[in-house]
Amino acid sequence: MRIIAEKERKIMVEPRHEFLTFRSGMTHIYLLPYDDNFLLVDAGVRKKEAAFFSFLTKQNIVPDRIRFIFLTHTHYDHTGGLSLIKEVSHARVIVHEKEADYLRKGMTPVPKGTRASTKVVSFLGRYFFKKMGNYTPVEPDIIWNDEPYHPDPFPATIIHTPGHTMGSSSLIWKDAVAFVGDTLFGLEKEDCYPWFITDEESLKKSWEKLLNTGCEQFYPAHGRPVSIKLLESSYQKHFK
Ligand SMILES: [Zn+2]
Repeated sequence: MRIIAEKERKIMVEPRHEFLTFRSGMTHIYLLPYDDNFLLVDAGVRKKEAAFFSFLTKQNIVPDRIRFIFLTHTHYDHTGGLSLIKEVSHARVIVHEKEADYLRKGMTPVPKGTRASTKVVSFLGRYFFKKMGNYTPVEPDIIWNDEPYHPDPFPATIIHTPGHTMGSSSLIWKDAVAFVGDTLFGLEKEDCYPWFITDEESLKKSWEKLLNTGCEQFYPAHGRPVSIKLLESSYQKHFK
């Protein structure tokens, strides 16, 4: 891809799958190129927008080349930068219908923690620091439901993968890799189970869906890429 210098590539899978990663606080946001246009996966936290725009400038990417912003879900660490990035880029925001009202309100509840430390975070978030989860409300442009959505002309398929939240979704890119938001966590070597979930049975089905996509590599919002092997072994550990 001509606009990206080799040394500035943040992650490269192989030439036909290449994309850019920007780290917004604890959240990775992904910029997927097609021709001269881009699709952004998630919008990161607030107060990192300026850093994101200077990242675009360094890559010679004009913000209005971003055609879509796909939200894997609407937690504040995925939507904090959304309002400003949308305003500057005029990109159209894609969100699952089960997250659309949260986005309009600018508040998405924190799910339950799945381990001792995140149970505490979740409890504090729900009862004491409610404002922590707030973000600037945004009116979504494209609200989809359970039928896979294709953001034409991008070689992408968006599928519903609930569990972390009930509107959580993943984007399959070129039938080869997937961007999964918080449906998988990449923070541990041996386990990709999310640190927060809303519904375990839904998560199990979503993992089965991901295992059947044919993708070999999954890119979570937090941590390192998850291989199909790690997803399979984590599935065995938690659901068998
Ligand atoms: Zn989340």
